[in-house]
Amino acid sequence: MRDKDHKKPQCPVGEPRCEHIDSLMALREEVETLADLVLTDPMTLLFNYRHFSQALEQELERTHRTGQPTALIMLDLDHFKRVNDTWGHEAGNRVLRHVGELMVTLLRKIDIPCRYGGEEFALILPGTPLPRAVNAAERLRTAIEETPVMLEEKPLLVTASMGVSVYQRSSNLSADSFVKQVDALLYVAKTQGRNRVAHPDLESMKPKGQVGADEKAALYGPD
Ligand code: GH3
Ligand code: MG
Ligand code: MG
Repeated sequence: MRDKDHKKPQCPVGEPRCEHIDSLMALREEVETLADLVLTDPMTLLFNYRHFSQALEQELERTHRTGQPTALIMLDLDHFKRVNDTWGHEAGNRVLRHVGELMVTLLRKIDIPCRYGGEEFALILPGTPLPRAVNAAERLRTAIEETPVMLEEKPLLVTASMGVSVYQRSSNLSADSFVKQVDALLYVAKTQGRNRVAHPDLESMKPKGQVGADEKAALYGPD
């Protein structure tokens, strides 16, 4: 997750091999591994809730600084209790790992896939206008729907519901309220029948009046 390429410090007394420097380097590596573990969900190896909260605050801050929108996708697996009840808890765990892998495969390197808790995931897409975030969510929804998990050579298919929205420089919301807004859209996707993506009206998110090409592209993506 992080860049481990540290510069090795010089031995202060100029020894070519220094056991103190070696143990310092080993300790640094250990600290970094532990720091990664604190931010990782051990089951899916995605980021955990702790990292999600920190990363979202950071990305919203970046939106205020740069004007680039931040998209958020909240995803919840459909009827997941049934998967556990029918196939067992360990099979449920395999499905969670499988969905995590699909996310990593389909998202960009700069995107931030997190396990929000239970069978719910939160994906932060930095610098992403709404239409592109909706496309990404639809791609993921289709991949989940179409890619089975093999359980003793039997294919098990699951589906997911998602809420998607974007945070813009003009958004006057706390990170918590933004998450609540996207969670409410996820609830809409559930009540409309599941296996779907709910999002604000794309037209209503289009910049109104005269705006520059850069601002238009940042808000709405290329024409
Ligand atoms: P809905 O479509 O409304 O989301 O229905 P659902 O069954 O997915 O929702 P519900 O909240 O009723 O059930 C979620 C289930 O997810 C129940 C819980 O046991 C299961 N679950 C949560 N965390 C884990 C986990 O780490 N592993 C497994 N196997 N199951 C989990
Ligand atoms: Mg669910
Ligand atoms: Mg749930």
